[in-house]
Amino acid sequence: MSMHQPSADEIVSRLPELAPYGRSAVRLHPERGEPTEQGSSVGGPLLWPSDEPWPMCSEPDDEEPSGLPAVAMVPVAQIYASDAPGPWWPTGIDLLQILWCPNEHWEAPPNQADVSPLVEVRWRRAADVGVALPPPPVPARHYDYGYLPNPCTIRTEQIIDFPYREELPEELRPRLRKLIEDTDIEGKDSITRIAGWKIGGWPTWHLTCPSAFDCEECQGRMALLFTVASDDLVTGVVVGRAGDLRIFACPNDHRHPFHVDLH
Ligand SMILES: [Zn+2]
Ligand SMILES: [Zn+2]
Repeated sequence: MSMHQPSADEIVSRLPELAPYGRSAVRLHPERGEPTEQGSSVGGPLLWPSDEPWPMCSEPDDEEPSGLPAVAMVPVAQIYASDAPGPWWPTGIDLLQILWCPNEHWEAPPNQADVSPLVEVRWRRAADVGVALPPPPVPARHYDYGYLPNPCTIRTEQIIDFPYREELPEELRPRLRKLIEDTDIEGKDSITRIAGWKIGGWPTWHLTCPSAFDCEECQGRMALLFTVASDDLVTGVVVGRAGDLRIFACPNDHRHPFHVDLH
């Protein structure tokens, strides 16, 4: 029984066959605060070009089957590359923005998760954004719990992330299971189910069989880009049954459609 998060070196020294499966990731630790558009944030103001329309959602939702009037999306996260360097940044891009429509959508478009907020992703070069936009429009209606993130600044932590055991060759799984038991933190898997918000890394599949998503445009295997976690105290975000909302992206071209999965 260990009481600390085992480091990647500790994990690999105990199970060297895991080494090739390590993927870089950045854990995002939100803290209530007053983020600005110049910094990485959850639920903070976005650096937004004044000539670019704010994203609106007119998909049918839980409260309004017509989807009208269209609902202004709200900022979920804004991440600067300097805070979270890694292979997920397309060339020349240094700002990732994630927004969503804060309603539940029962007939979501195929790349979105059902019974969830509808996600929008924007990639930018911060230097290209001129004058910041005045405050964005307020949503005309919103679900009453869990989809309006509190403004938070972010502390980041670079890690090596390991896959959920069912994504590994069968012969490795019993030894990984043993290692997970030996290193648990208060009974929780601290190796293949790192909790919280993160960019990059591996998705967990502790509720369902592992799924893989292929890009609609180029059939490339999509990679986990971003994980939105649930916590009602700090960010106020609760998705699914206190689960995670994961955004998968095409590694070949960031302009190809993303895919959202709720777990
Ligand atoms: Zn909507
Ligand atoms: Zn693609």
